[in-house]
Amino acid sequence: MTRPATFRSPIAEGRPPVRLSGPDADRIAEIAGAVPDPELPMVSLTNLGVLRAVDVDPDSGAITVTITPTYTGCPAMNTMAEDVVINLRAAGYPDVTVRKVLSDTWSSDDLTQEGRQALRDNGIAPPAASATDRAAADAPVACPLCHSSDTEQLSRFGATSCKSLYRCRACREPFEYFKVH
Ligand SMILES: [Zn+2]
Repeated sequence: MTRPATFRSPIAEGRPPVRLSGPDADRIAEIAGAVPDPELPMVSLTNLGVLRAVDVDPDSGAITVTITPTYTGCPAMNTMAEDVVINLRAAGYPDVTVRKVLSDTWSSDDLTQEGRQALRDNGIAPPAASATDRAAADAPVACPLCHSSDTEQLSRFGATSCKSLYRCRACREPFEYFKVH
């Protein structure tokens, strides 16, 4: 194989950058990134923005996949890591280690536009566009169905710990909000 050691994959366009190194890293990143979030199965790890790096040892073929949780202590992280290993093994890559980094903090900015749209299409309000913008973080959660911002929180915890339950006062429909913390 005459590929350069490091190159940019099509999935690395835009935010967040996925660091790739070693042979087959782009293909491996696509397989690992296609794993769905167990709590938000409509969103892949790539679109969730938790896939950070794929490093392949050119000599041994050992793969290290680096992911970062959407928040510290996210219970879905272990399932994500297991699914990455299972899917890569099924694709013919037996030697896979998943590394979880907490230092490379995930922000809601890492969620791709495709990821945001997939959440909305499934009736889940995506987090505020910019986690670094305090005003955006404190802005009311918009209803994913009618886009009204006249909404109220019913419960801090929804079906899973990554979501809280809201109700829209305009269309009266309950919906879930993918919370950042
Ligand atoms: Zn509504």
